[in-house]
Amino acid sequence: MFKYRIPSFIQKLFSSYTWKVKTKDKLLFLTFDDGPHPEITPWVLAQLQQYQAKASFFCVADNVRKYPQTYAQILASNHAVGNHTYHHKNGWYTKVHEYLTDVALAENFIQSQLFRPPYGRIKKQQATALLKQYAVVMWSHLSCDYSSTLNIDESLNAMKKVEPGSILVFHDSEKAFANLQIILPQLLQFYQQEGFTLLALNKDICAWK
Ligand SMILES: [Zn+2]
Repeated sequence: MFKYRIPSFIQKLFSSYTWKVKTKDKLLFLTFDDGPHPEITPWVLAQLQQYQAKASFFCVADNVRKYPQTYAQILASNHAVGNHTYHHKNGWYTKVHEYLTDVALAENFIQSQLFRPPYGRIKKQQATALLKQYAVVMWSHLSCDYSSTLNIDESLNAMKKVEPGSILVFHDSEKAFANLQIILPQLLQFYQQEGFTLLALNKDICAWK
């Protein structure tokens, strides 16, 4: 189950990042990475709307540049947006200055105090600089929807083991869409049945104690 959940020792080791929201209320935080995409993102928005669910979209700024209308649709639906770099950079393999420049470039397209490092891979120096301005949002649950060999039942089971404040990752990307179309509707229904409210993130929520 390692790939779907982040072990708590890692969360403790990197405690300046947001792994889950500290709350006892039945709140969940769905996040969608790598969009916007002109067909997939509107599909996701329609699914969310059916359940009056709000979510957070960590956008690749190059996609925001390509699809400004889709991006505007996310904002108009009162979901949150977050910075996911301009070129979907892997922090481990990118020099600190280059990484920060890419995030700053993305900021021209995405106004947000939320940042998620692509692949969850970020160097300490990069994160230290970004934490002055952003909540660095990781996750507690990864759907692995981008995997072409995904075991749907395994993913669904993992994503159903949520607790108050869980942060869940999906992708509004072409790679993930086949899986997303199966798992997202089922999970939205499940979370509603279980009495969870689905909210968008913001920097204040990330700082709840
Ligand atoms: Zn990504």
